[in-house]
Amino acid sequence: MGLKTWTKRSLAAQALGKVDPVTKGVVPPIHVATTYLRDPDNGYSSGFIYGRPDNETVHEAQAVLAMLEEARAGALLFGSGMAAATAVFQALSPGDHVVASKVMYWALRAWLMTEATRWGLSVEFVETDDLAALKAAVKPGVTKLIWVETPSNPLWTITDIAAAAEIAHQAGARLAVDSTCASPVHTRPLTLGADIVMHAATKVLNGHSDVVAGALCAREDDEFWSRIKTVRKGQGGILGPFEAYLLMRGMRTLHLRQERQAASALELAQRLSAHPMVARVLYPGLPQHPGHDIAARQMENGFGYMLSVQVTGGEAAAIATAAQVALYKRATSLGGVESLIEHRASIEGAGSRCPTDLLRLSTGIEDVGDLYDDLDQALTAAHR
Ligand code: PLP
Repeated sequence: MGLKTWTKRSLAAQALGKVDPVTKGVVPPIHVATTYLRDPDNGYSSGFIYGRPDNETVHEAQAVLAMLEEARAGALLFGSGMAAATAVFQALSPGDHVVASKVMYWALRAWLMTEATRWGLSVEFVETDDLAALKAAVKPGVTKLIWVETPSNPLWTITDIAAAAEIAHQAGARLAVDSTCASPVHTRPLTLGADIVMHAATKVLNGHSDVVAGALCAREDDEFWSRIKTVRKGQGGILGPFEAYLLMRGMRTLHLRQERQAASALELAQRLSAHPMVARVLYPGLPQHPGHDIAARQMENGFGYMLSVQVTGGEAAAIATAAQVALYKRATSLGGVESLIEHRASIEGAGSRCPTDLLRLSTGIEDVGDLYDDLDQALTAAHR
């Protein structure tokens, strides 16, 4: 029976079942060499030449991610999520038009508003959950890329990936999806028509807040994917082998962590919706969330680990609540096994639509009752 008959959960748990060919160890070694022996006939029969374009441990982690995302063309790992995302834009040409989500990771939005423009791209931001607005912004033949983040940071708006892909393809453009906050356990954008999927692998793919990494996956092994490979190779953006190993170790438990995190996030969202000091809960798993119906269609195994709450009493009460937590960690980032809380408006820059009373919650794997009790006591203390 071939490996392809096993479920993704089983394949990921064993990192595709690869063993060390020398010792038969069930965990393959970390390949640290930066250069490789050349054959007497001047060739490189191993396929490896130098460490910047290629590394076997990176290949192994890429193979696990490509399997999870059903990426026919494969995956590429980068030194950070930003390195992965910017490689997509750098594979475009000066003069190309890009349409991107208004609600997205703030540092990428800032990069698009400054560096991408210097690079010669023209970038337009729209609410990509509004398909009419998305369609109106796309210029057939000129727009080369639609970039969406779904669920989008920190409001968790949902963009219909299949519909956005259709709009992109009708205009001769590609669709790229930042799927960091969904992960392949909850959404597989390539199967819905997207061309490229991006992950800040720093987050839930690694899951332990100890690796900075980024990833791209592609449906077609086409000219654009080759351009992206050229960008990574030329700019030296490849992930290091130690980080690739840690990422692969993290992905072995991705399904377990994600299912627990999503179940806890849903329970927290439901319980916090009834809390007297919470004005609003933003979570796509709640029926009252504007993107719930699309999320129910395009997400599986739950609605992800990220939610936000708007606190009664405004910005001061939100910051005071974050100051009072005892179990949650007051820190930026997301997707780790430890739960994090952050007052987002303090960090987001120009163009942010983040309300000042919003606290972003990344749900970890702690006891969900403890997480709720911690938020309850922090909200109560902040409103005294
Ligand atoms: N995309 C999203 C949704 C993120 O949350 C982040 C980081 O917070 C990034 C991209 C960038 O990833 P990195 O910090 O690894 O560069």
